[in-house]
Amino acid sequence: MEFDTVIHDGTVSTATDTFKADIGIANGRIAAIAEHLSGGAQRIDAGGRLVLPGGIEAHAHIAQESSSGVMSADDYLSGSISAAFGGNSSFIPFAAQQRGQSIDDVIATYDARGARSVLDYSYHLIISDPTPEVLHEQLPRAFARGITSFKVFMTYDLMNIGDAGMLDILTVARQHGAITMVHAENNDMVKWMNKRLADGGHTAPKFHAVSRPELAEEEAINRAISLAKLVDAPLFIVHVSTAGGAQIVQREILSGTRLFAETCPQYLALTRDDLDRPGMEGAKFICSPPLRDTATQDALWKHVQSGTFTSVSSDHAPYRYDETGKFLNGFDAPYPKISNGMPGIAARLPYLFSEGVVKGRISLQQFVALSSTNAARTFGMTNKGSIAPGMDADIAIWDPETSRTMSLADQHDNMDYTPFEGMELTGVPETVLNRGAFVTHKGKLIAQEGQGKFVARAPMEMGPRKYLAKERNPLNNFGVDI
Ligand SMILES: [Zn+2]
Repeated sequence: MEFDTVIHDGTVSTATDTFKADIGIANGRIAAIAEHLSGGAQRIDAGGRLVLPGGIEAHAHIAQESSSGVMSADDYLSGSISAAFGGNSSFIPFAAQQRGQSIDDVIATYDARGARSVLDYSYHLIISDPTPEVLHEQLPRAFARGITSFKVFMTYDLMNIGDAGMLDILTVARQHGAITMVHAENNDMVKWMNKRLADGGHTAPKFHAVSRPELAEEEAINRAISLAKLVDAPLFIVHVSTAGGAQIVQREILSGTRLFAETCPQYLALTRDDLDRPGMEGAKFICSPPLRDTATQDALWKHVQSGTFTSVSSDHAPYRYDETGKFLNGFDAPYPKISNGMPGIAARLPYLFSEGVVKGRISLQQFVALSSTNAARTFGMTNKGSIAPGMDADIAIWDPETSRTMSLADQHDNMDYTPFEGMELTGVPETVLNRGAFVTHKGKLIAQEGQGKFVARAPMEMGPRKYLAKERNPLNNFGVDI
């Protein structure tokens, strides 16, 4: 057999196994896995290295305007390059609908932006305006193109679609085999806190954490799950930041609810004390939901270890520490007017590897599942997320032993800070291949702009009706079609 590339003498790990093997790549796919493979137009020596499925970043804001109109600092070129230096071989950023905008227009806009990517990509649609045309004409066209996930917000006045809007979207998602993702925080609780804090003159960055209580997340997670159960639709809770929220997710999964969830490195690594750094420095750590405390970190780690979370994602939301990003409303803006979000697409996997695998909290197989395989399965990237014959040759080669101090330069993004600055991390993703082509190699960028391709994703298996099938469901009994 003729191979374009052979990766030899590495230790291969998937979500289930770790073994010594050579990998033969032909036409962008994994063609063979064997103890020894000869030949190959190109041979990559992976001696002393880990050969893993490339990471799949399933939560990133790239070339995206926030609802208040701030453009993220990374576009699809810089964002995908940064992702690759972080060990990712594909990613699924958001394509956000502004109110009044058609979904066809949203997709056309992001297709133009995505064309610069050096990694394979898809989009989760953010729906902020679920009109009948959107629900019944435009979303079905998006599904037909292989966009099989979308996200809704329970918070932010310009994004929050209300419980009825969520039920409409969950219902359409169930009909088409899509999965709904939700940002779960109680909007009125946050607004009520904001008002009281403003009345008391409490506007420094540290009050951002006070304004978004743990209860606001826990209540909204519980409500979102109830809404999804009413129409038997699968649900993905993004960026779970509380012990209580994770506990609700765990309880529901154990009772058989079709539920998925993620947490993010910032909730494992940082605390609300970071919001109280001198001057306006705390603005760098403003994200929603907010950072919590060390007890929460311990609890979230336990849920990472025990399988409550499907994945650990970055929620890369890059706003620079200047007037184009964090301080669009002035350098002394009150916390509600400081742009929300922090970067982390290049730090996600080095953090999870070092704090997870190297420190013995999770196995290498769990790392692969949390960083790649589970996202591929949940979001319908059927050719990605594993190392097996026939799969796309999306591979990350890691040096598992070298330690480094995290710095801005390692991130390769368009940012002027990293919230992970100064952390000592062991393990470096050195080389990334996407469909067999180098994106990075030995720490250098090889890819050309536009090398990535749009990935049409498969629909999700919906499973049997449970709540809807119960005779106590009045809509079913009286022939109302939902
Ligand atoms: Zn996000």
